Amino acid sequence: MVPMCDVTLQYQELKAEIDAAMQSVAAAGNYILGPQVKALEAELAAMCETPHAVGVASGTDALHLVLRAAGIGPGDEVVTTAFTFVATTEAIGMVGATPVFADIDPRTFNIDPAAIEAAITPRTKAIIPVHLFGQPCDMDRIMAIAKRHGLLVVEDCCQALGATWKGRPVGSIGDAGCFSFFPSKNLGGFGDGGLVTTNSKELFTSVEMLRRHGGRVKYHHEVLGLNSRLDELQAAILRIKLTRLNDWNEARRRHAATYNRMLANSPNIQRPVELTESGKHCWMGLAISGGSPLMESVYGQYTILVDNRDAVCNELSKAKIGHAVYYPVPLHLQEVHQNLGMKTGSLPHTEAAATRCLSLPMFPQLEVSQQRESVEALQRACEQSRVRAA
Ligand SMILES: *Cc1c(COP(=O)(O)O)cnc(C)c1O
Repeated sequence: MVPMCDVTLQYQELKAEIDAAMQSVAAAGNYILGPQVKALEAELAAMCETPHAVGVASGTDALHLVLRAAGIGPGDEVVTTAFTFVATTEAIGMVGATPVFADIDPRTFNIDPAAIEAAITPRTKAIIPVHLFGQPCDMDRIMAIAKRHGLLVVEDCCQALGATWKGRPVGSIGDAGCFSFFPSKNLGGFGDGGLVTTNSKELFTSVEMLRRHGGRVKYHHEVLGLNSRLDELQAAILRIKLTRLNDWNEARRRHAATYNRMLANSPNIQRPVELTESGKHCWMGLAISGGSPLMESVYGQYTILVDNRDAVCNELSKAKIGHAVYYPVPLHLQEVHQNLGMKTGSLPHTEAAATRCLSLPMFPQLEVSQQRESVEALQRACEQSRVRAA
């Protein structure tokens, strides 16, 4: 038995400190936007190398509030990927704008900059690149496109806190970065939470106001806001976990490298690749075609591509090996987006990834013996389903 993810191990590692932090919040009585939220905002702004950070109620709200703060609304188009969690397009829909999907780079699963360029119309106002599975998008090319067309760039960093592109933290490259503290993310609370990072004083002020009923001063409301605050209690918990985040991210990278080695002789399993200089790819730390990596992924997930994916999943379930499919139905084919009129075949790389993707157990405390057990079961499952399909 190997779990896909076990968030209780983080708690066990830090139990004494987390329990004390929770008790001190309970005793202090300052439960909404208190000193813990302020301190976490400062710590994450420092880590992400942005002057501003605002805690909000979820990653979904982080995306939604940034789009609202930027004045994006009905009639506007936002270019993004269909290979992501639905929250990315929910945020676009919540401000009344329309998502326009660009296909992915089949090797990195991230939005393909060339496809972004092709999706731009006179109505395009913003791009939301999603750093999927913890791996940064090609931010040089995306920022160049945005500059050329005068577009806002909102980085969906919900799976990628601590990842870097050319040494720069995600969330500091675009106009804003949106983070989630959902329990299974690499920095997860005991409930929902989110955060916006930005270099822009205007976006900061506006999101700050929107999250608390549209006002800077209590009972004085300047714009139509909402209630979207990060809990003081969650902030206190997250601050304790944050002290371990670099080590945990390092452990995830180590596990990814271990999986890569264990799968090196499985030609039918495509391992995750990282971008290197001049658009080449490599397996973590191991150049395929020269050049050093441009990015440091935090491996929120370790996601491979296999044939006969659903049969492989069945075998893994029987062997009690945790696994997950992120995401089985790409957003352009979801019922909620039927009004866009996009047909099967319109985003071939996205659809192929959705059909073949499979994520393996990944959490900081994962042991090499568990990785071996998972990979052996996976190789058996692939072989069995190949024979059966033939
Ligand atoms: C988790 C996630 C979100 C939403 O975050 P919540 O905190 O659950 O609202 C948005 N985008 C991506 C890519 C995510 O993985």
